[in-house]
Amino acid sequence: MDPAKRASVGGRSETHLEEQVKDWLRYGEDLGLSPYYRDRPPLHAIVESAAGPVESPSVATSSAVSTAAILASAPAMIAAAAPGRASGAPRNVAASASQKSPAATILPATAARSLFEVIERIEGDTLLRIREDIGDCTRCKLHKGRTKIVFGTGNPNADLMFVGEGPGRDEDLSGEPFVGRAGKLLTDMIKAMGLQREDVYIANVVKCRPPENRLPEKDEITTCSPFLMRQIDTIKPKVICTLGSCSAQTLLQTTQGISKFRGEWFDFRGAKLMPTYHPAYLLRNPGAKPEVWKDLQKVMAVLGLQPKKR
Ligand code: SF4
Repeated sequence: MDPAKRASVGGRSETHLEEQVKDWLRYGEDLGLSPYYRDRPPLHAIVESAAGPVESPSVATSSAVSTAAILASAPAMIAAAAPGRASGAPRNVAASASQKSPAATILPATAARSLFEVIERIEGDTLLRIREDIGDCTRCKLHKGRTKIVFGTGNPNADLMFVGEGPGRDEDLSGEPFVGRAGKLLTDMIKAMGLQREDVYIANVVKCRPPENRLPEKDEITTCSPFLMRQIDTIKPKVICTLGSCSAQTLLQTTQGISKFRGEWFDFRGAKLMPTYHPAYLLRNPGAKPEVWKDLQKVMAVLGLQPKKR
């Protein structure tokens, strides 16, 4: 393209500005956004759309304004698209309000959306259809060692949804989530909240048991978690309570340890999200039970629940 046709914005050439836009977009991808941006237009299409055609001087002027506005908003764009990823910190409800930028409204729509909002909601989706889509799944390596796929169980219209990391041995054999010792403790926790297990929905980030009960690996989470997102979109719980670090880190897209943000409220796809410790952790560390009870009491307050009378 003829450099003479490039507009000058604030003393910088448009070519330079385009390079900066590209740098910001690459930066976003370096932060790990790519698995959830499969539907995003190609990088060159976003840049061309932002810059616009430059063949005529009048169009070049308007495109220069658009490019300059996007550049001014680029840090907010990245922060909004990847809450806390640069620092490894999740974005809580209070923080999200303070991050709103008027300039963000002129950004390309796909670039300003949060990670899992990019996974489109499927109109008319049902739990049955999701289970059928999973089928006899071999999409990731976890299928090799599983006995049964552990899809999830509970009230399909639940106000409260618990999300763990993945099935253990008992769950793998039975096909039900949280049925071992940790599952019994979770059931007790649910009853202490004044609910029955059938009142809530329980699912995991991955549906097949990781070998030796190791944590699910990144590729396994990336492959399987869209099914969880569809379950959440279908159930539409008011509150999601994540159990343990894996589910919290997956949904909130952070690498921070759960002890740093446990007990705080977060927004997630229209629900309020409360991260707390995994029941298996409580079995090993009973001293953490009062902290979890505090988290559950916050959930109860939002849902208007009364603790079970002893
Ligand atoms: S963990 Fe999920 S993606 Fe992997 S094989 Fe099982 S159902 Fe499929």
